Amino acid sequence: MATQLVKEWTAIQQFPAATQGRLLELLGKLKQENVSTLTILVMGKGGVGKSSTVNSIIGDRVVTISSFQSETPRPVMVSRSRAGFTLNIIDTPGLVEGAYVSDQVLETIKRFLLNKTIDVLLYVDRLDLYRVDNLDKQVVKAITDSFGKEIWRKGIVVLTHAQFSPPDGLNYDEFFSKRSESLMKIVRQGSRISKKEIQDSPIPVVLVENSGRCNKNEHDEKILPTGTPWIPNLVQIITDVALNRSKGILVDRKLIEGPNPNDRGKLFIPLILAFEYFFVIKRIQKWIKDDISRETKPSWE
Ligand code: GDP
Ligand code: MG
Repeated sequence: MATQLVKEWTAIQQFPAATQGRLLELLGKLKQENVSTLTILVMGKGGVGKSSTVNSIIGDRVVTISSFQSETPRPVMVSRSRAGFTLNIIDTPGLVEGAYVSDQVLETIKRFLLNKTIDVLLYVDRLDLYRVDNLDKQVVKAITDSFGKEIWRKGIVVLTHAQFSPPDGLNYDEFFSKRSESLMKIVRQGSRISKKEIQDSPIPVVLVENSGRCNKNEHDEKILPTGTPWIPNLVQIITDVALNRSKGILVDRKLIEGPNPNDRGKLFIPLILAFEYFFVIKRIQKWIKDDISRETKPSWE
């Protein structure tokens, strides 16, 4: 087997000192918890800013950005190491083609992920949109059907285009919470996770601004309209999710080729029906028969 050459994460030095310090601190925290590799899977529709977010995290143009829909034709994994720690980020093509989720794209992604363990899923969409629709739900459903419901325990909803002024009247926080709420509803419906489950382990929603025109603070760090430096904030939440109680998702053959992980229980349906037939229906039929034979004929017959 060819050993994969992992490049040194030199681009981390491109970040302002404050960001670098924060990032190294977070990598240290992961290493302290015996996590020396982190694999982040980035998914979503086309054109939402998946590739741009990958580049922002690495601090370099490592994957291609496109203003037009048909971008990354296949998944790409970018691996960088720093002080004994390896970061893998997997950029994927948009899941939607035309008005549907593309099964072909989904298959390509699944095969690419074979034998990899996903530690964190970044589900990317834009902040500056007003609507969610059935297609969004289908995208969530496709991810859930591919990797199982548990993938969402490793999920983060990332909203790009965060440097955005909401239309008249609405303030930023209000807009953000409305947008997050409607997206979370879609995630819940598409993944069939109950409200209760989400309340018990909420999926974080994180803001991102990939534009070169992103505002900066006095330390030259790119900031959100709220003033938060967003790269360390995103990496902090990635770290939290990586270290949370649920395990990473190993993509094995069973997961890829087997029945939809959320439908496995359905395999038992024929067995349950057979059981019902032999033990319930047959018995009832016998009771009826016995009853009929025991019945005394009415005198007029
Ligand atoms: P992908 O198809 O999801 O990988 O999206 P890309 O990363 O290729 O981005 C699509 C377009 O949106 C490109 O023109 C990017 O420059 C732009 N873009 C991505 N993220 C942001 C963002 O946070 N803010 C702004 N203003 N533009 C963005
Ligand atoms: Mg892309």
